[in-house]
This record gives sequence, structure tokens and C-alpha cells, in this order.
Amino acid sequence: MNLKFYKKSYMEKYDVVVVGSGNAALCAALSARDNGAKKVLIIEKASKKEAGGNSRYTNGSYRFAYNNFSDLKKIIPKLKQSKKIDYGKYPKRSFYDDMIKVTKNKTDKKLTKTLVNDSHEVIYWLSKKGLKFVPIKGKQSFVVNGVTKYWGGLTLEVKNQGEGLIKSLTNIAKKNGIKIKYEVAAKKLIKKNNEIKGIGVLHKGKKELILCNSVILACGGFEANSKMRSKYLGNGWDKAKVRGTKHNTGDGLTMAFEHNAARYGEWNGCHAVFHDLNGPKFSDLKIAAKYRKISYPWGIVLNANGERFVDEGEDLRNYTYAKFGREVIKQPKQFAWQIFDQKVRPMLYNEYDVKSATKVKANSLEDLVKKLKGVNANKALSTILKYNQSVNTKVKFDPTIKDGKNTKGLKINKSNWANKIDKSPFYAFGVTCGITFTFGGLKINNKCEVLDNKEKPIKGLYAAGEMVGGIFYLNYPGGSGLMSGSVFGRIAGKYAAKLS
Ligand SMILES: Cc1cc2nc3c(=O)[nH]c(=O)nc-3n(C[C@H](O)[C@H](O)[C@H](O)COP(=O)(O)OP(=O)(O)OC[C@H]3O[C@@H](n4cnc5c(N)ncnc54)[C@H](O)[C@@H]3O)c2cc1C
Repeated sequence: MNLKFYKKSYMEKYDVVVVGSGNAALCAALSARDNGAKKVLIIEKASKKEAGGNSRYTNGSYRFAYNNFSDLKKIIPKLKQSKKIDYGKYPKRSFYDDMIKVTKNKTDKKLTKTLVNDSHEVIYWLSKKGLKFVPIKGKQSFVVNGVTKYWGGLTLEVKNQGEGLIKSLTNIAKKNGIKIKYEVAAKKLIKKNNEIKGIGVLHKGKKELILCNSVILACGGFEANSKMRSKYLGNGWDKAKVRGTKHNTGDGLTMAFEHNAARYGEWNGCHAVFHDLNGPKFSDLKIAAKYRKISYPWGIVLNANGERFVDEGEDLRNYTYAKFGREVIKQPKQFAWQIFDQKVRPMLYNEYDVKSATKVKANSLEDLVKKLKGVNANKALSTILKYNQSVNTKVKFDPTIKDGKNTKGLKINKSNWANKIDKSPFYAFGVTCGITFTFGGLKINNKCEVLDNKEKPIKGLYAAGEMVGGIFYLNYPGGSGLMSGSVFGRIAGKYAAKLS
């Protein structure tokens, strides 16, 4: 065992050590306790004030399969049925098909089947543990003909969103006897007789050793590491703004590779969105998810040349928002402006109302384009006017479905929700790329054991959450990150407990 640098200051031995204190880690730890592990320790690199990872920055929305209202009522017993509310349904088949669609069939089918098939049971498991869910009213619903209609397979979020999620799961973990230590950064996995049996850590700057029977890595991807972003995602990605925690710097991946763990999934891919142009380098918990700007389906987006570069209406926003950050990074000077008129302004998410949002407003399109900093104003005006001329006025606008209200004859047509931009005042919001999390990760088997380069499990080593590769490629259906962390965290905890 390589103890050279680590003092044996934690002489206690744990059954299971979980690295990270985000959603995947907390679910893994709870599941390990459920399955008989007596001594479970969570170690977290951040201080208590900054703990909870990206999970704490989330909207708390969870994607899961459900067949009818009764399925939702099991999760929220107080939920009332009404003719005025249509919660719809989202069968397993639809969730699976969405994963195939957005990843262009690249997702690992075994992992996706597990994600989809376990999703309902897992949300029920969480609610039984005491996590409270509420309908995502407004953000995932529109009123159509007097009925509030939920759309896009995303119906529930955790009460009080990411803050509520981490606060509740942390309290539940503590009640279940799980110990949590903050400001303890995992540095090295320790092997004995070919099994992971400990972990070397930096505790407030001091090197220490923790002994255990198994380690579950749930310490995020490498989105907050600008060097790794440049290396794996490519040129320009060092400049992306980080939407979540600054602590996900790829440590778990690096540690696992020292033991020949296999690299898996889309290492040059990530979840990235339109994000406030003047947002900070790393996000802050005050504004958190509200730096994103994802109501673009109701308008158009122009780059510095004054040209459109995506089909803003390609699909419901849940199925396009996570890939458009990649598109903006390819544009000249890596920024864009989203353009809206007064007709759709009330439909924009409340993230557009944040005081610090980069925005301009004008009473005419001529004046608006002059205010778009860094943009070719003449070209921008001509793009908007051509777009207006090409709008199909025969189809009725319906934001709850792909309405087919499109444009015709443009280089890049808008496939749905193409309304003319013609009612003043006009609004524009400056955006750039905000990275959410990286898609490349470790290869795991059906017990969430980490596999090595020869596809053999590394005994005693498990992974969950953002660290698992092979699930998301190219794109991502909103709300699946938390579900993935919970599903694979629960499995990892179950099998890690068996080694105790
Ligand atoms: C702004 C924003 C909004 C989002 N909204 C949603 C949403 O509504 N729904 C959804 O499904 N997904 C959402 N996501 C994606 C979601 O956050 C992630 O998919 C999910 O939270 C990842 O969980 P995790 O437990 O794997 O990682 P994290 O929650 O990031 O946890 C990883 C933890 O590991 C810690 N850590 C890192 N290195 C070490 C180390 N060496 N030692 C110890 N600890 C370490 C970190 O400090 C962190 O606490 C959002 C993401 C962001 C950034």
C-alpha cells in the first residue's frame, strides 16, 4: 500500500467512503446504509458553505417515467386532480426514445435502459426518504384553452430546487448515521492486494489516510478545470463560463486513471447552454441557474456577423438547450444576442428578469440593432427583416407542442414557433457559452464498479453521477443529470455495501 505521503490520522476504518457531497454522492451513501453498510463516510473538498456541488446550483428538475396521474400522486400525495390541469404522461418508451433521439443513437443502451427503467422507482425512493417534490408550474407548463398543460417529459422538481435538494438529502443522510467531512479533498486511491482499500486525502492542507472497504467516486466531471477543458473539449473551451461549482476539476477521473480505469463516453463533449455574456467566470449561488438564457425558441439568435446560426425552433427547449452552448463557442468572438419582441416577452423565463442580465431594449428594430455591442448592425437588421418575411402565418402558434409554425426559404430555417418580430418594444439579451458538465467519464458495469482498460472491475471502486461516461453524447434531455446521479448512485451504494 502506498502510504508514503499519508499520515494515518483517521484511524477509524469505514465500510464505504463516498467522494463528493452532491446528489449522486448523497444517494450512494443513503443506499449503502439501506443495504447494510454500518460506517459510511462522505468526504467533500469544498467547505460546508460551498458544498453540494453542481447539484446545489440546479433547478432541481427530475426526469422520470410515469404513466398517469396516480404515479405522480404516489410522489406528491397532496397533488389534486383537476380538469384544468393536464400533467400528461411520460412512459418509459418516451424517455428511452428521447435519449436515443438527443444522443443520435450514441448512448450506451444498457446504461440508458437502467436510467429509464429505474427512474420512477428512484424518485419514489427519494420521496419516501423525505425529499419533497412539486410540479414545475410555469417553466414546464403553458395555459392552452384554459387548461394548464405540462410539456416535454419534465413535470416535477425538488421543493426549493437545488438548495432544497442538498439541504434535505444532507439532513436525511445525517439522520441515517452518515458522517460528512468538509474540506477533505480526495487525492489518491490506495490499493492493497489488488483492491481499493483506502484513500489519501488533503484535509485543510494536511495529507491524511482513510481506510475503507470500498470507495464510491461521485466527485463530478472536469468542467471547472480550464486546462482539461482545452485538452479534451478543444480550442476556445478554456474561455467558457462555468455554470456551477468551481470544485469539479476532474480529480476523481485523474485518480481512477492512475489505476488504469477505462475512459468512456464523449470526452470531447459536454452540456453547455446560452449563458449571460457578462456572468462571472464561475457561477455564484445567489443567481445560480439564472445566468442561463434558454427562452430562445420564442425569438431568434444572432452572432457578431448579424447572422442566425441555429434553428431556434428545432425542438422543445428541453431537447436543444444543452447543445446550443457548443454552437455559440464556434461563433466569431464566442458571443450572440437573443432577439425578442413584446408579444413573447411575457413568456420568457424569470432568468431574463435578473437585474444583472446583459440586455438592451428599443422601440424600433433599427434602434435595437445599433445597441447590439459587437454586432454588424446592418446585417442584423436585414437578417431580422428577412426572417419576418419568411414566417409561415398560416399555422397557429402553440408553445406546448412542436407546432410546425416555421419559416421557409432561409439558409437556416426555424422549424417551430416562428412568430414575426414586429411588436415594439424589442429586446435583446447578450449570451455566451456556459458549461454545465462534461460527458466523458469512466466505464462502469451494472454494479457501478469502475472497469479497467481490460474491461475488468477494479475491486472496491465504484462511480456515479457526472463521472459516469457513455450516457450523454452531443446533447441531453433536461432533468436527466439528477436522475442519472440518483439511479447510478443508488446502485453503487448497494453493491459497495456488500463489501462491508
Ligand atoms: C446551473 C445548473 C443547473 C442545473 N439544473 C439541473 C436540473 O434542474 N436538473 C438536472 O437533472 N440537472 C441539472 N443540472 C446538472 C446537474 O447539476 C448534474 O448533472 C448533477 O448535479 C451532478 O451531480 P453529481 O453528484 O455527479 O456532481 P456534483 O453535484 O457536482 O457533486 C460533485 C461534488 O464532488 C466534490 N468534489 C470534487 N472533487 C473532489 C475531491 N477531490 N474530493 C472531494 N470532493 C470533491 C465537489 O465539490 C462536489 O460537491 C444543472 C447543472 C447546473 C450547473
